[in-house]
Amino acid sequence: MSKQGNIGVTSENIFPIIKKFLYSDHEIFLREIVSNAVDATQKLKTLSAVGEYKGEIANPTIRITLDEAAGTLTVSDRGIGMTAQEIEKYINRIAFSGAEEFLEKYKKDATSIIGHFGLGFYSTFMVSKKVEILTRSYREDAIPMKWSCEGNPEYVLEETEKEAIGTDIILYIDDENKEFLGKDHIAHLLKKYCRFLPIPIAFGKKQEWKDGNYVDTKEDQIVNDTKPAWTRKPSELTEEDYKKFYRELYPLSDEPLFWIHLNVDYPFNLTGILYFPRIKNTMDMNRNKIQLYSNQVFVTDSVEGIVPEFLTLLHGVLDSPDIPLNVSRSYLQSDRNVKKISAHITKKVADRLEEIFRNDRPQFEEKWDSLKLFIQYGMLSDEKFYERAAKFVLLKDTEGKYYTLDEYKTLVEGNQTNKDGQLIYLYTNSREEQYAYIQAAKDKGYSILLMDGVLDVHAIGQLEQKFEKTQFVRIDSDTTENIIRKDEKGSVALSEDQRNALQEIFQSQTPKMEKTEFHITFEALGENAHPVLLTQSEYMRRMREMSAMQPGMSFYGEMPDNYNIVLNTEHPLIKKVLNDQEMSCSAQLSPIVADIKGWEARQTDLRSKHNEKKSEEITAEEKEDLENTNRRLDELRLQHNTILSEYASGNKLVHELIDLALLGNGMLKGEALSKFIRRSIQLI
Ligand code: ADP
Repeated sequence: MSKQGNIGVTSENIFPIIKKFLYSDHEIFLREIVSNAVDATQKLKTLSAVGEYKGEIANPTIRITLDEAAGTLTVSDRGIGMTAQEIEKYINRIAFSGAEEFLEKYKKDATSIIGHFGLGFYSTFMVSKKVEILTRSYREDAIPMKWSCEGNPEYVLEETEKEAIGTDIILYIDDENKEFLGKDHIAHLLKKYCRFLPIPIAFGKKQEWKDGNYVDTKEDQIVNDTKPAWTRKPSELTEEDYKKFYRELYPLSDEPLFWIHLNVDYPFNLTGILYFPRIKNTMDMNRNKIQLYSNQVFVTDSVEGIVPEFLTLLHGVLDSPDIPLNVSRSYLQSDRNVKKISAHITKKVADRLEEIFRNDRPQFEEKWDSLKLFIQYGMLSDEKFYERAAKFVLLKDTEGKYYTLDEYKTLVEGNQTNKDGQLIYLYTNSREEQYAYIQAAKDKGYSILLMDGVLDVHAIGQLEQKFEKTQFVRIDSDTTENIIRKDEKGSVALSEDQRNALQEIFQSQTPKMEKTEFHITFEALGENAHPVLLTQSEYMRRMREMSAMQPGMSFYGEMPDNYNIVLNTEHPLIKKVLNDQEMSCSAQLSPIVADIKGWEARQTDLRSKHNEKKSEEITAEEKEDLENTNRRLDELRLQHNTILSEYASGNKLVHELIDLALLGNGMLKGEALSKFIRRSIQLI
């Protein structure tokens, strides 16, 4: 029998479309024909198993051969083959309607087009000027057939000679796609798409080293692993098997921390192994490491939309025939199956972590630092995961001890609840820089958490929202006495003049730093506490930290850093500054202060008179009087302050105290630091 005919495409010639539109992913033709060969082989195995096929099927192998001289790439299988009728039915008739519109929409997305039109086999025309099918059906009376087509709607179907049952697909690679005749390129593509297919695939021969050269042996080079770890039962696999499979997938990565073997068959089908990599910082966050397979055929390694964002930090393999593959991404993201699968994976991941936490807490703690980022990311981005992870997420203190959220609460409840009933969680983000604060807090019996991770600011915000009456406070945001206030503040015993004097003396000598402001405050902290401390408001600092990570919050990023210079009014050194100042400046200051008092009285008087009247009743004279008074006061205050600041600028003790406070916060650097050292030596 020989026949010529037209491929049954409804009204349109698909070939220009295949060539024109499917340019981006040319290489997937190989995946399509090799997986057809796999299907055909598996079908024959099934028929043999149920006794419908009685012939030999010992170890069927799919062969890929290149013939550079003929310009062909051939895929041969030992599968069920096709009869003439089957070619008619499966190859010649392609449903293909409403094409224009669809193609316009998915121009760049070859996968969708192939999937939409069931064009698996026809994708070969992306790279071929002619395609031949040589096939012999497993049926006993089947006549071997040859089908050929030169990339136009006409095909030829004729009888041919073929010994073996199965199919050869012969591609005559066109001039624009010569790279598909390159051995290395095909080897690369086979590794990418066919590496874990369930039927052995032979490409070339194994080589051996002989007389200074690599030469082919007689043995086939099998390019795939037909039973990859995820398809096997967990009970059959050792720890080493899992690690070995990981190395196979990611030869350059560190050993994984843990893994999860997924195996679900209801209500959807999903297998796979997910590995927890070691993540220490954002640099290690390697996305697009999970590979997605459908019945062991590689589909993609960009799984966003299929698994929740934070799980893309995991590595490994997912295999599911229930994930619609040949569709666009947006469709995928709204697919119900995909959503269920994604929720299931999240749950499994949480279960596995909880299991390790419960069964082997020491191991969990040991690996915590590498797991932390991943778990925090999950808790922040997925409410369900938060609920599950709240049982095993750990807090680490400055001593390196780990606590669950509940354990930590119990630990600090007694000693760290303030007078308003707020539970205060103290934390540091740098053991080095905040050393002095940490020590002081420890002396008070407080526990301090180490929160130095990249997501800690966000994690703190989340925990504060979830917990009742709980606040996280960084150890340097206030004096140790005040950080957890248990009673009303001790009052500062200073007269107004003394306050003003100290205020000016210190304020005038604070260093000028870009985007940094210092404010002087007073506290009665007792003789034994530090004379001067530097603190930074928790709220403002957090806003700045968050803004550094989130675009759109740059308002806070633009604000200066605000620090309080807290003067301990009960400390002998502060008292000394005050006394020395009174001794040296009072002769000069007293008349000015008296003057100021007089003018201030006048100012109050004038203002109250003005207030009694409506604004139109105030005379020009009265207005001028007040303006003069104001001006005079400004002048006097300036004089007063100038005397104090001039005095302060020559006062080593004041400088020394400010520098010590800065030093305690790691803020004394460069020239200021060397000045401090020189001055300290002089003082000694
Ligand atoms: P799909 O594989 O999605 O059904 P294809 O266009 O790739 O679409 O193939 C169409 C049909 O042609 C297959 O379903 C199968 O029946 C038949 N076919 C393709 N390749 C082979 C092969 N190597 N051996 C036997 N039958 C094949």
